[in-house]
Amino acid sequence: MQSAWEAVKALASGFAVTFVHLFRKPITEQYPEYKRPLPVRSRARIILTRDPDGEERCVACYLCSAVCPVTCISMEGAEKPDGRRYAAWFRINFARCIYCGLCEEACPTSAIQLTPDYEFCKKSIMNFVYEKEDLLVDHQGKDSNYNYYKVAGIITREAGKGEHAGEKEPVDVKSNLP
Ligand code: SF4
Ligand code: SF4
Repeated sequence: MQSAWEAVKALASGFAVTFVHLFRKPITEQYPEYKRPLPVRSRARIILTRDPDGEERCVACYLCSAVCPVTCISMEGAEKPDGRRYAAWFRINFARCIYCGLCEEACPTSAIQLTPDYEFCKKSIMNFVYEKEDLLVDHQGKDSNYNYYKVAGIITREAGKGEHAGEKEPVDVKSNLP
């Protein structure tokens, strides 16, 4: 059982912390005049990025849509004459999004990315539905060099499977058989 002396010591150490804080300068940030710089990994407004060649990164694979716990992403996939896939339309309902970042984790092309931009309040909830033209940006976001089509074992106009710069030979699955 705790002795009276130990109880007094515990109480005193608790009050000592409070006492020290009495003499500290308050830290008050005057938002919105001062906006604290947020880390690049902060999870707020979502964007769709482009690869270093300027092409849309999204290949409309539906993985982000499938993983989203609140089903706020929808799209329709389409294919260009050269076989490259893209989203004919792409929609995010930010009124439902919980900014969990799972879509970004699931994306194989680094297309969908969350940004630190949290200031996009709206008066009408309907204005939280963002279409592809609202989401698509002209840069690579956090991933400046990644180009899915050059590392994913896909045949492009430039090279075949495993022939792009930095790309390994595709695994021969039959070589694993006994
Ligand atoms: S951040 Fe989470 S909730 Fe928002 S769109 Fe991505 S997966 Fe869905
Ligand atoms: S954003 Fe990424 S995960 Fe979502 S459909 Fe496009 S490529 Fe797939």
